[in-house]
Amino acid sequence: MRSDVSGYELNAPSNLQAVLTQIASEPGRHAIIAGGTELMVALNTGRLESRSLLSIQHLRELRFIRTTADAVHIGAGTTFTDIRRDETIARELPLLVQAASWTGSIANQNRGTLGGNICNASPAADTPPALLAYDASVTLLSVRGERTVPYSRFHLGYKKTLLEPDEILYSVSVPRVYEGWRQYMRKVGTRNAQAISKTALAGVALVHGNEIGEIRLGAASLADRPLRCLGAEEAVRGHSIAEGDLENTARLGRAALARESKPIDDIRSTAMYRSAVAANLLEEFLRQLPS
Ligand SMILES: Cc1cc2nc3c(=O)[nH]c(=O)nc-3n(C[C@H](O)[C@H](O)[C@H](O)COP(=O)(O)OP(=O)(O)OC[C@H]3O[C@@H](n4cnc5c(N)ncnc54)[C@H](O)[C@@H]3O)c2cc1C
Repeated sequence: MRSDVSGYELNAPSNLQAVLTQIASEPGRHAIIAGGTELMVALNTGRLESRSLLSIQHLRELRFIRTTADAVHIGAGTTFTDIRRDETIARELPLLVQAASWTGSIANQNRGTLGGNICNASPAADTPPALLAYDASVTLLSVRGERTVPYSRFHLGYKKTLLEPDEILYSVSVPRVYEGWRQYMRKVGTRNAQAISKTALAGVALVHGNEIGEIRLGAASLADRPLRCLGAEEAVRGHSIAEGDLENTARLGRAALARESKPIDDIRSTAMYRSAVAANLLEEFLRQLPS
C-alpha cells in the first residue's frame, strides 16, 4: 500500500556532528536518507518503518574522493556519477567504475551514493563484489568515535550490517596496490542496463609466470549477503594457469565456489542457475589470466 507522506517527518541537519548527535540521542528512531533512491521506494510501498527521516544528502563532509599514498578514500555520500568521473578510480579501480555505471539509470547514478548501496545491504547490489575483491575497509562514525573494519566483515546477514543504531557509514577505503593486477567483473541480469543482477562476480589476481600468486573474489546473489569467496580463492591460489593445468585449476575453483555459495530461488532467478553461472564466471576469469 502507498504511504501517506504527511505521516513522515524530514530533517536535514546542517552538519555531520548534528546528525551524529541526533541519532545518538534517539538510537534507531531515525532513518538516514542519502540519495533516497532505495529509501523512497520503501517509503512509497509502505515498507519504511521509521517515521523520521534524517537527510545527509547535502553534507559536503561525506562527499569526497581523497587519494593518499596508500589508499583511495571515498566518502559515503559520493554518488555513482562522482565515481564514474574520477580519474584515479578510473585508472586504478576500474571495477568500481564498472559497478557504478551498472547501477540503475543515469538519474539513479546522479543521486544514489556508494554509502547507500552498501548500507542498504542487498546481496544483489553492484558495488559490493568489487569492494570485496579490492579488500576495501569501511569507517563507521558515531559520537563515541570512529572505527575502521574490513568491508568483508560489514555484512552480517540478509539486510544486516555491523552498523550500531547510533552509527553511520563515513567512508570506504580501497588500498592502492592493484597496478599490474588482472581485474575482472561481470554481471548477469535480465538486461545489460537497469537490471538487478541474477549473479555477478568480481575478481583481482596477481599472476607470477604461470602461477596465481594472489587472488580475491567477491560475488553478488550467491548468499544472504555480498560474498567474499575465500574458499574459491584458497582453492586456486598458487595453482598453475599454464595451458595443460588450467582445466584442473578451474575445476578446483568451481567446486570450492559451489561449496561456499548458498544462493536462493527468487523472482529473478533460481539457485541452480546462479550457482552454475557464477562458476562459469569464475572459469572465464581464470581463463583470461594467462593473456
Ligand atoms: C530504478 C532503480 C534501479 C536501481 N538499480 C540498481 C542497480 O542496478 N544496482 C544496484 O546496486 N542498486 C540499484 N538500485 C538501488 C539504489 O539505487 C542503490 O542501492 C543506491 O546506491 C542507494 O543509494 P542512496 O544514496 O540512494 O541510498 P538511500 O536510499 O538514501 O539509502 C539506502 C539505505 O542506506 C542507508 N544509508 C544511506 N547512507 C548511509 C550512511 N552513510 N550511513 C548509514 N546508513 C546509510 C539508508 O538509511 C537506507 O537504509 C536501484 C534503485 C532504483 C529505484
